[in-house]
Parts: sequence; structure tokens; C-alpha cells
Amino acid sequence: MFVDHTAWVPEHFIGGHPALDLANAVFDRRNPPPHNELFNSAADIGNWLFSAGLANETDAAAVAEIRDRHFLGGVRDIREASYALFAAIAADKGTPSEPLGLLFSHTASGLEGRQVDWHGTRFDLASLQWKDPAPVTAFLAHLSIEAFFTLPRAKLHACPRCGWLFVDTSRGGKRRWCNMRVCGNREKIARHRGRD
Ligand SMILES: [Zn+2]
Repeated sequence: MFVDHTAWVPEHFIGGHPALDLANAVFDRRNPPPHNELFNSAADIGNWLFSAGLANETDAAAVAEIRDRHFLGGVRDIREASYALFAAIAADKGTPSEPLGLLFSHTASGLEGRQVDWHGTRFDLASLQWKDPAPVTAFLAHLSIEAFFTLPRAKLHACPRCGWLFVDTSRGGKRRWCNMRVCGNREKIARHRGRD
């Protein structure tokens, strides 16, 4: 089967925190097209880690080579949990326990029986650990736990057009779109059309 590789571009990394960029790793949250999935292989995940600046080229290549059949599904589960958690917080709906629990449990199983180093609030995985699905999955799950305890919740928003999440760090606090060019312009065009 031919599998398309996702070409990650800077527009995929507009969340202001890697946990939000992970939650945004689908095409559209609000109006999902038939092919909404951007994580189609371990290579997509390795390339994502590299493009996000979370892994160097060698470590990202090790992730791309992971052949464990549960790895891709586990990472997608973490992404969906991260989205459920932060979308609820962005909508002032409080903290849903189920996705938070899933993130803690994936973090815990990656730590079990392994010595993992820390760099500040993040895992500092050794080269060999980037080949191992459990610590890589735990690394990704823990990004959301870090974000849960550190992000300014009042500044967390969802793009009204595509549902992507971001932290508004603009000075005036008036950012509305994931990306003005991508969604802000589409909204303008739609409004113009609506007027005709
Ligand atoms: Zn958007």
C-alpha cells in the first residue's frame, strides 16, 4: 500500500507549545475531510519530532524506523487525548479526567523499568531510547502533562475555523486565528462570497 508522507512545514507548528502542535497534527478539527490523518507512519512521527525541534536528525531517523505495530496507534491516542484536554480547557469546560489519565498512564509505562534522564521539565532520551517505542511514546505524552501544568490557561484558544489550538502570546491578546494567511483569509473570502 502506498502511504503518503506528511511534509511538515512551519504552519504546522503555530501552537506555541509542542503539546498543542501535537494536538493539531490533523488536517482540520472542525470540518475533518476524509483524509484528516497526518500521522500515517512511524516516519511521519520521526519527521514531526525533528521539525518540532524535539529530536535531532539521528534520533528522528531512529523513531522513523520503529516497527512496533502499536506505536502509531499509541501516538495517535496521545494526540487525541492532548486535543480533548486542551480543547476543553480552551472552551472553559474544566479538565476532563479521561484524557489526562491516558497521558499520565502512557508517561508512567514509558518510565517503568527504565532510567530516563531529565532536561528541565522534559525527558532527555538517550540515543538508544529513541529506538524504543515506550520511552518515545512517554516523551510525547509527557509534553502534554508539562503543558497542563505550565500553560497560561486564559491564553489558550481554538481557531474558530479549523479548531487548531494555540497560546495567544500577542501583546494585545487579540489573536483569533491559527494563522491569518491560512484561516483568517479563508474566513474573509467566505464572508465576501456570503455578501454576493
Ligand atoms: Zn485555523
